[in-house]
Amino acid sequence: VRFINVQKSYDGETLVVKNLNLDIAKGEFVTMLGPSGSGKTTCLMMLAGFETATSGEIMLNGRGINKVAPHKRGIGMVFQNYALFPHMTVAENLAFPLQVRKVSKAETEQKVQRALDMVQLGHLGNRRPAQLSGGQQQRVAVARALVFDPDLVLMDEPLGALDKNLREQMQYEIKHIHESLGVTVVYVTHDQSEALTMSNRIAVFDDGVIQQLAPPPDLYERPLNAFVAAFIGENN
Ligand code: ATP
Repeated sequence: VRFINVQKSYDGETLVVKNLNLDIAKGEFVTMLGPSGSGKTTCLMMLAGFETATSGEIMLNGRGINKVAPHKRGIGMVFQNYALFPHMTVAENLAFPLQVRKVSKAETEQKVQRALDMVQLGHLGNRRPAQLSGGQQQRVAVARALVFDPDLVLMDEPLGALDKNLREQMQYEIKHIHESLGVTVVYVTHDQSEALTMSNRIAVFDDGVIQQLAPPPDLYERPLNAFVAAFIGENN
């Protein structure tokens, strides 16, 4: 993933993302961390294709994707509110991205089962989302993002709605899945400890600008400026 001089304004006046440059390697887990309104979600939405950059270029696997439709980018997404289809069973929710991609019925069944097993929900494929706990729903959302073997998965505050214990357990599980699949993950959170636990590198955002991009220990030991020092120090 590469952002080259990317800027975004929603109103034609204020830049909420300012001249952003960012390179993410294949298989890396990079977290966008920063206070509310600092531009993290906007960056993720531009990468997913739900928002257009006002200027600059976003590249994926070496090609510019500014004009590529979201469903053709091969990107899996997980949101805080799960965004599962309530009228479909768990298995049908997982099958949907495969049907869109015209995967055969036999292969769909096999991939759905494999994804459900990966999040330890192999036995719950026939339930509807409302019949699951919050943590189980979030696992389904993770499985659905991975079911079509994407190169890249975007996660926007995926654990924000869960209680502390469950959040810690899911952090561990997502990290384990990332490591075992070798998939690239771009993760958005405002939670410092979550970012420090999970990431290979963290991009600390403030006011539409990456203040520092570094592995977790570097942010702690060598913060580049007062903002990073204060923000990383909070709640730790
Ligand atoms: P949060 O953690 O609260 O989601 P964030 O760091 O992800 O914050 P963004 O959601 O990217 O920040 O928002 C950056 C700025 O852009 C904010 O000032 C926000 O009000 C504005 N913004 C975001 N989405 C839109 C939109 N669709 N239309 C207009 N302004 C928007």
